[in-house]
Amino acid sequence: IMNPVYNFSAGPSTLPKSVLKKAEAELSNYKGSGMSVMELSHRGKLFMDIIQDAEKTLRELMNIPDDYSVMFLQGGASTQFAMVPMNLMVNNKKADYVVTGSWAQKAYEEAKKFGTPRVIANSHGADLSHIPKVTRDMIDPEADYVHITTNNTIEGTAFYDLPDTGDIPIVADMSSNILSEQIDVTNYGLIYAGAQKNIGPAGMTVVIIRKDLIGQADSSVPSMLDYAVHQKAKGIYNTPPTFSIYMAKLVFDWLKEDIGGLENMAKINEDKANLLYETIDHSILFEASIKDRDRSWMNVPFLSKTGDEELEKKFLKEAEARGLVTLKGHRSVGGMRASIYNAMPVEGVQALVDFIKEFDQKNS
Ligand code: PMP
Repeated sequence: IMNPVYNFSAGPSTLPKSVLKKAEAELSNYKGSGMSVMELSHRGKLFMDIIQDAEKTLRELMNIPDDYSVMFLQGGASTQFAMVPMNLMVNNKKADYVVTGSWAQKAYEEAKKFGTPRVIANSHGADLSHIPKVTRDMIDPEADYVHITTNNTIEGTAFYDLPDTGDIPIVADMSSNILSEQIDVTNYGLIYAGAQKNIGPAGMTVVIIRKDLIGQADSSVPSMLDYAVHQKAKGIYNTPPTFSIYMAKLVFDWLKEDIGGLENMAKINEDKANLLYETIDHSILFEASIKDRDRSWMNVPFLSKTGDEELEKKFLKEAEARGLVTLKGHRSVGGMRASIYNAMPVEGVQALVDFIKEFDQKNS
C-alpha cells in the first residue's frame, strides 16, 4: 500500500484535500454551465459571484471592517515590495523597515527605489534567530509607514508582539502566516500576502488596505500599480487571476465551514507546531534553528547538531521514500525545513514526528 504523500514545501504548498476534490468535481462543468471556471468571462455572473463570495468569506474570517478594501491582485508579494512605497511612501518619502529576514531585506531594497527607507531594527547576521523589540522611540515620526514581515519563511521566526507605532500605519507582509490565527486588522494600515502558502495556488496576492491610504500615488505610477485604480474598478480593472481566486474561495470556505474559523485554525496550528518542536527538542541528532519564543508556527527549520550534511542528506532521502517530501531547507540556510501551513493535516506532522524519532534511534 502506498503511504499518503505529505508535502512540507514552503510554497507553493499543500492544499486541503477536500478543496482539491471539490475543484476536481467542478473542473470541466462549473455549476452546469458546461464550462470550467478557467473559461468563464471575468465580468460574467458566475465569476462575479465567485470573486464576491471570496471577498465576503475572507472579510468574515478575518473580521475585516468596512473601512478597509480587499483586493485580489497579481504579481506576487514581490510586486507589493514596490507597490507599497509607490502608493504610501509619498508624504515624507520616508519609511521605517524592520528587517527580520531575507524577504524583509528584499522589501527594504525595493523601497529604496522610491524614497529613503530606513532599517530601524535588523535581525540579520548573528541575530537572525530573534525578532528585535521595536519601541516607539526607534520610529521616525516622519515615516510614512513602518514595514514588518510577520512570519519569516526562510528563517522560521514570527512576530508575536506588534510594534507600537502610534499613528504611523503598519504595513505587514503576511505571506507565510495570513489566516493562521485571528489578528486585529485595525492594527494595520496595509496587509499583503502571496497566495501560495495559506490561501491557494500561486498567481493571486491578497491586499487589505485601510481606505484612507488609497489614492496617494503620483500620477506617474502605472495604473496596474495604483491601489486607487483597482479599488475604483472593484477588482476587475483588468482580467484578474480567475482560477486562483476561485481556488482561494474554496480554501476560505474550507476554513469557515470545515475548520470553523481562525480561532480553531490557530489552536490546530499551535498544537501541530508544539508537537514538532517538542520532538526536535528531544532529538539526539537534530536541533531546531530557532530556540526561543520567536519560533514560527508555520515554518520549522532544523538541522544536524554537529553540522553533519551527510546525515541530513540521508534523512531527506529516507523521508522522501516515506512520502514526507520537500523537507530540504532553503538553499541559503541548508538543513531541513518543515512548512506546516494551515492545510498540513495533523496526521502529516505526526508522520514526520514518528519518522524523526525512528531515524534518531537507528542512527545514533
Ligand atoms: N514575502 C515572504 C514572507 C515570502 O515567504 C515570499 C515567498 N516565499 C515572498 C514575500 C515573495 O512572494 P512572491 O513569490 O509571491 O513574490
